[in-house]
Amino acid sequence: MNDIASYSRQELELELVAHKRLVEISLLLNSTLAQEDLLKHIMDAARELAGAEAASILLKDPHTNDLIFTANSSGGASGLLGKPVPLEGSIAGIILNEEMPVAIDDVSTDPRHYRQLDEQTGFQTRSILGVPMRIKDKWVGVLEVVNKINGAWTEGNLNTLLILASLAAVAIDNAQLVSALRHAYNELDKVDKLKSDFIAIASHELRTPLSVILGYASFLKEEAQGSASTHAEAVFRSALQLRTIIEQMTNLSFLKQQEVKLEKRPSSLMGLLRAAEQDVLSSAQAKEQIVEIRLPDEDIQIEVDPGQVVTILTNVLNNAIKYTQNGGLIVLETQRKPSEIWISIRDNGPGIPRAALEKIFDEFYQVEDHMTRRQGGMGLGLSIARALAEAHQGRLWAESPGPGQGSAFYLSLPLGDGPQGG
Ligand code: ADP
Repeated sequence: MNDIASYSRQELELELVAHKRLVEISLLLNSTLAQEDLLKHIMDAARELAGAEAASILLKDPHTNDLIFTANSSGGASGLLGKPVPLEGSIAGIILNEEMPVAIDDVSTDPRHYRQLDEQTGFQTRSILGVPMRIKDKWVGVLEVVNKINGAWTEGNLNTLLILASLAAVAIDNAQLVSALRHAYNELDKVDKLKSDFIAIASHELRTPLSVILGYASFLKEEAQGSASTHAEAVFRSALQLRTIIEQMTNLSFLKQQEVKLEKRPSSLMGLLRAAEQDVLSSAQAKEQIVEIRLPDEDIQIEVDPGQVVTILTNVLNNAIKYTQNGGLIVLETQRKPSEIWISIRDNGPGIPRAALEKIFDEFYQVEDHMTRRQGGMGLGLSIARALAEAHQGRLWAESPGPGQGSAFYLSLPLGDGPQGG
């Protein structure tokens, strides 16, 4: 590097222009500019700052091993983008293979120059200055400027190009990361669609044969005598369980397609709590659990879809019953807030680890591993319940002091501004 004191005024001015341009490009790296525009910007800066006719970036194609023109400045040969240059038998190839800059003031006598490209494009390359480009620890391509307009390539040109090459590498790396991320999202979307289609088709196809099984099992249960009646009862109960699963699958696919149509009407809060209690009473009795409803002193009317609110409550209540040990206690209570009504469902069961308190609302999420756990279920009940709560502009969340200390689920529903009470 030259001693700064030996610079002429004109050289110092050129240095200043170059620095300003480099700072401006570094700032652009963080901008929302499309990567192609950014690379073009860097190429134009390379061309101008090096006093050249054109600048290009060539990146190595890992499949063909050729160097491919990926970005160009204005000026220069047209139609270069996407064109290959062989790694063996070109100056760019030598720069990349030897990981060293190369400056040639006259390529006409240089046997390393890849002449076919000029023949294809009609452009005449006279001189080349190129530097290798590195992304992270990998040498990936070359930044070249061609045809120095006045005189020979200088050390200053080389230094500017080295900086521009690292800036371009950051831009390319960002673009590659964004494209990899986009690809991963697309793949995820495809898998998600496959899953949703499967659920929609399976739940639809299972419904008809199941209603036949339920119909005949119920008929047999009434008719059969002795042990046959017990067997019919078992078939009937299992079919009912299957129906709950299929209903959850169907609900989920409707929710996914955002086809939930709420049929809202003024509904008695007490009535909703009682209806949910009725739905789960036999399961609680089978485990000798107590479901205690602490009713509000005064009933109020809320504007909701009663069927859907009962589904939210029964999903949460069924969990409380399922996960709480025999003889456990489940308490349903309401609290009136200024503009909301809160319904809480507390149990004295195993509790929920803090880290899982939000995740349990994700589809198919279960705290215990599905294959090893003792309880049935698909991990859909809470995600459906939350989606239904949100369709009402309400919220559903869980709290738990920790494992072994019970859980509490809260459903909050807006009261709206219509008249309530009584
Ligand atoms: P599942 O079909 O597995 O019950 P849910 O979506 O209804 O699916 O619940 C998700 C997970 O949340 C359950 O698998 C369970 O691990 C946990 N969970 C839900 N309710 C309770 C509760 N009352 N006590 C402890 N864990 C619960």
